[in-house]
Amino acid sequence: MTVKYVFEPEARAAVPVVGTDALFPVHRIYCIGRNYAAHAREMGHDPDRDPPFFFLKAPDAVQPIAEGVMTNHPYPPKTANYHHEIELVVALHRGGRDIAVEDALSHVFGYAVGLDMTRRDLQDEAKNLRRPWDVSKSADLSAPMGPLHPAASIGHPSHGAVSLAVNGAPRQTGDLNDMIWSVAEQIAILSQHFELKPGDLIFTGTPEGVGAVGRGDQLEATIAGIGTIALTIV
Ligand code: MN
Repeated sequence: MTVKYVFEPEARAAVPVVGTDALFPVHRIYCIGRNYAAHAREMGHDPDRDPPFFFLKAPDAVQPIAEGVMTNHPYPPKTANYHHEIELVVALHRGGRDIAVEDALSHVFGYAVGLDMTRRDLQDEAKNLRRPWDVSKSADLSAPMGPLHPAASIGHPSHGAVSLAVNGAPRQTGDLNDMIWSVAEQIAILSQHFELKPGDLIFTGTPEGVGAVGRGDQLEATIAGIGTIALTIV
């Protein structure tokens, strides 16, 4: 029987995949906090003692960015301190509960370059007032990301330079092997909290050097072996 809705639902968020015209349908967006030691330190935390923690963005926060094409990204309302966080994005094509670390990478469809854009002033306020992070982390289009590169083509990158430049000047530099919790460990731990589903994305944390952007700034975000995305803040 065909499902009837009281109005036509919004189209599902989806991300292009390199090598096919079929799209990857997005289910949820999970993000890990403080997953690079130097970034944890710059935010005032001790990376050695903090266990991993997660937050979510709304699935339709995804803004697909074509590789190598400068794309406009709207500066969101209600902030005067909008920050870039370059992150490796992991896309799952298999779900499950209590996934073993050794089995976790078999759930990965592919990888992309993404940005966990953050209204830092609202996040600081939320931290101070012990309020949730949703408003600071899940602004409309706050998850720009490039196309997915299937693991079947590129494998499972465990090292590689991560870099973000603003107007040509380097801001963030790191390496995937600086992660405190590996991609496999993140999947395993997340699956203890949630039943993971095909279509889930995981933003895997950002290296040090996060900072503010303003209208007119041009961002170039690169992860070695995966690709480059370029945005102009408008
Ligand atoms: Mn982040």
